[in-house]
Amino acid sequence: MPSTVIPVTRPFLPPFEEYVDELRELWETHILTNQGPKYLELEKLIQRFLENDNVALFANGHLALQIAFRGLGLTEGEVITTPYTFASTTHAIVECGLTPVFCDIDERTMTIDPEKIEALVTDRTKAICGVHVYGMPCDFERIEALSRRHSLRVVYDAAHAFGERYAGESIASWGDISMFSFHATKAFHSVEGGCLSFSDGAVCEAACKIRQFGIIGDEPVGFVGTNAKMTEVHAAMGLCNLRHFKEIVTSRQKAFERYQERFEGVRGLRTLSYPEKLEPNYSYFPIILENGFGANRDALVDFLKRDGILARKYFYPLTSSFPCYARRFGSPSTPIANRISQNVLCLPLYAGISLHEVDMISNAVLSHRS
Ligand SMILES: *Cc1c(COP(=O)(O)O)cnc(C)c1O
Repeated sequence: MPSTVIPVTRPFLPPFEEYVDELRELWETHILTNQGPKYLELEKLIQRFLENDNVALFANGHLALQIAFRGLGLTEGEVITTPYTFASTTHAIVECGLTPVFCDIDERTMTIDPEKIEALVTDRTKAICGVHVYGMPCDFERIEALSRRHSLRVVYDAAHAFGERYAGESIASWGDISMFSFHATKAFHSVEGGCLSFSDGAVCEAACKIRQFGIIGDEPVGFVGTNAKMTEVHAAMGLCNLRHFKEIVTSRQKAFERYQERFEGVRGLRTLSYPEKLEPNYSYFPIILENGFGANRDALVDFLKRDGILARKYFYPLTSSFPCYARRFGSPSTPIANRISQNVLCLPLYAGISLHEVDMISNAVLSHRS
């Protein structure tokens, strides 16, 4: 491999001094966790940023997602969801004792296809769990209508969608609960971390109890809780990175738009096109190779690797075909998800990637056209 390697992603870091300044207070107070001052400050800022007072922070996005289902009281039954996602979505459902029912995705948005949800509803269906893949929002209006018609809960895995707005409003008020991941590789991060935004304050309270062993104040512990608290050290990183969020998104946007320009009109290569009403956070740059491009996806990954460019087959394989899930939940029919997952490739995109690097990557991709 060449000496310089372009990773698929690279976590943003604030200036070192800025982080040290945040940490200094910890050495004065000796408060390191259990919803201390840094936690409370970050929580308040994120509530304001997401325009929702019912937001709580967690140790990571995955535990938050599990707690979302538990907080809604979902302990058995079926959840209609997408297999075109990161392992976390399906794992969270299964770990909660729920049964995932895999629904196909929409060709264009790659999110769960509302047209196909209804046929999967049974008397055991409890919830719909859509994923805003690559920050592309699910068709929330139709999912909302469906959920009302069938009295279903709606949980969004919004891990990729922090800070996004649709039609001028934060997307954090959609459904019953949305989960945002603050993992180091996400557009906004606290090293590890995540949050839930709730439409119902009572569910937020229940989730906060689960987060802390079932303990709140002096109340007796009435149920089995877990530990998913965000520490002060992580909240301090979140505070720094939130100040830089705008510049992070702008940097990503520049790279994203350069890729778009370079790939415009290329036969057999499709890119994301965000809806006009969306203010995206430019989290990922997936390309889908279709008939007529030339190299197939797997060959292109290998070619790029030889040039020191680490693109990623994200999402491949579908979660429904993981060895731990294959055949365990019937044989779902998701032809579009299958095809996209076999032809998708995420190109390097992160805050600070240079347009020169984007050009190099684009040239490398384009040189494998037929
Ligand atoms: C990152 C991610 C998660 C999990 O978040 P963590 O904070 O890493 O636990 C869940 N779902 C999707 C789609 C993700 O990309």
